[in-house]
Amino acid sequence: MSTPVPVRTVISPGRYVQGKDAITRLGEFTTEIGSAPLVVADDIVWELVKDKVTASFASAGLEVRRETSRGLATKVEVDRLVEAIKEAKADVVIGIGGGSAIDAVKSAGYLAGIRWVSTPTVASTDAPTSALSVIYTEDGAFEEYRFFPRNPDLVLVDTQLVANAPVRFLVAGVGDALATWLEARATQRAHATTMAGGQQTETAAALARLSWDLIWENALPAISAVRDHLVTPAVEKLVEANTLLSGLGFESGGLAAAHAIHNGLTAAPQTHGLTHGQKVNIGSITQLVLEGAPTQEIRDFIIFTTRVGLPNTLTEIGLKVSDVADLQRVAEAATAEGETMSNMPFPVTAADVVDALRSIEGLSRQVRADAGLPEPEFYTAH
Ligand SMILES: [Zn+2]
Repeated sequence: MSTPVPVRTVISPGRYVQGKDAITRLGEFTTEIGSAPLVVADDIVWELVKDKVTASFASAGLEVRRETSRGLATKVEVDRLVEAIKEAKADVVIGIGGGSAIDAVKSAGYLAGIRWVSTPTVASTDAPTSALSVIYTEDGAFEEYRFFPRNPDLVLVDTQLVANAPVRFLVAGVGDALATWLEARATQRAHATTMAGGQQTETAAALARLSWDLIWENALPAISAVRDHLVTPAVEKLVEANTLLSGLGFESGGLAAAHAIHNGLTAAPQTHGLTHGQKVNIGSITQLVLEGAPTQEIRDFIIFTTRVGLPNTLTEIGLKVSDVADLQRVAEAATAEGETMSNMPFPVTAADVVDALRSIEGLSRQVRADAGLPEPEFYTAH
């Protein structure tokens, strides 16, 4: 067999819909995809959306059937949802909720051979748009990426639901999305292969960069608005950056050190309970250190992410500079075979990652002190 020729490729969901009260149109957009939907949402989320989804399905002539989501996207949870889909004879499965529920639904929809829809109720990750799921062990450690031949047919985001959720979800989404451009830039420099299975396109690089620019411009006013559950133009722009642009940008632009370090951190029980975006932000600052990025760029990143409310020290994720054995385990997982660390434009060893991780404590503390920003508080896993 000959090696396939290298190609540039970009993949995307069939349709992206975003707006205040957009969930009232879920039925209408679903009828373009299937006629026998199964909704997957946990009890808390379902309570929030039940009335609007029911009304919207009724006016579209669709029956409402719901399976509960049990949280973390594990093998067991995915297999359970596949059975539920088969039992319901559904032709489209709609995940409503956070990143875990949506990742489990994508994987289950694919395995059951039907189409799938993401309806995130928070803007905490860029998972909803992609053609892959992250599968975790029952203990919450990273297990594997599962790739599908298609993205969701529909991604629908109701920005009022996003604004009604606790602001920490939006903050986490900023952490996930800020990594997108840093990782796409590294992938570009390395001429590496993206999650979409080819070389980066100019399109994906531009979308990743746009996500970064929109975040720097809109994150602080959007976070402030969401604290009061308001939907402003800044909120709309930030939600699009966190969900659509970051999703397209990471998938077709490439992941690199930041997400590899995130995946490594899931091996440290101290970090359990932290959001994906919080751990990714530690990955981003560590990637900048590994790159030997300009001092001003690193300073700006530390100051901005502190203002946003994201961690940039070990202290804030429950680790210490002296936890060398734990950090070694994290670094080994981050540089393991198949990890996206290999998309960095230079070789990165576990020892490099340990040093970079240990260095961010002193570096971020210094920058924060110089800028008059608060000292980090120690995180205790619960
Ligand atoms: Zn991510």
